[in-house]
Amino acid sequence: PEQTLALIKPDTVEEHKDEILKAIQDAGFSILHMMAVCLSQADIEKLYRKLQDKPFFNQLVDFMCSGPCMALILSKFRAVHEWRAMMGPTDPCQARETAAESLRVHFGKDILHNAVHGSSSSERANEEIHLVFGDVCRE
Ligand code: ATP
Ligand code: MG
Repeated sequence: PEQTLALIKPDTVEEHKDEILKAIQDAGFSILHMMAVCLSQADIEKLYRKLQDKPFFNQLVDFMCSGPCMALILSKFRAVHEWRAMMGPTDPCQARETAAESLRVHFGKDILHNAVHGSSSSERANEEIHLVFGDVCRE
C-alpha cells in the first residue's frame, strides 16, 4: 500500500475531527500515525513552497499557523489519489455547485479554509511525512 500525509486544518480540528476520522476509517484507510501538531511558519512554508509566489501565500501561512493541526499518515492502495478524491476540489464553494460529496464540500468554509490537506504525489507524501513527523517515525 501507499502512504500519504493528511492534515485536518486548524479551524476544523476542534469541531469536526471525530467525524473526519470516522470517515477516514470507513473509507478503508489505515491510520499509521496520528498526532496534534502546531506547525511552525518554516514548516508551512516548506509544505506549500510551490505556492510562495501566490498572492494568498501569507494568508495561507498565517492560517495554517493559527492553531494545532491533526496530522495523519494514511495507508491504502493508491492512498494519495484516494485521499484527494475524498477531500474534493480545493474550493468548497465552487464544489458545492456540483453534486459530488466530499470532505471539503461538507466541512470547508471557503477556498482558503478548506478543512483538509493531502499530499499531491507519492514523492511529496514521503517528503511531507518526514517534514511533519520527522523523527517520530521512520519506516
Ligand atoms: P492542499 O495542498 O492543502 O491539500 P490543494 O492541493 O487542493 O490543497 P493547493 O493549490 O496546493 O490546493 O493550495 C494549497 C492551499 O492553499 C489550499 O488548500 C488552500 O487552503 C489555499 N489556497 C489555494 N488557492 C487559494 C486561493 N486562490 N485563495 C486563498 N487560498 C488558496
Ligand atoms: Mg496542494
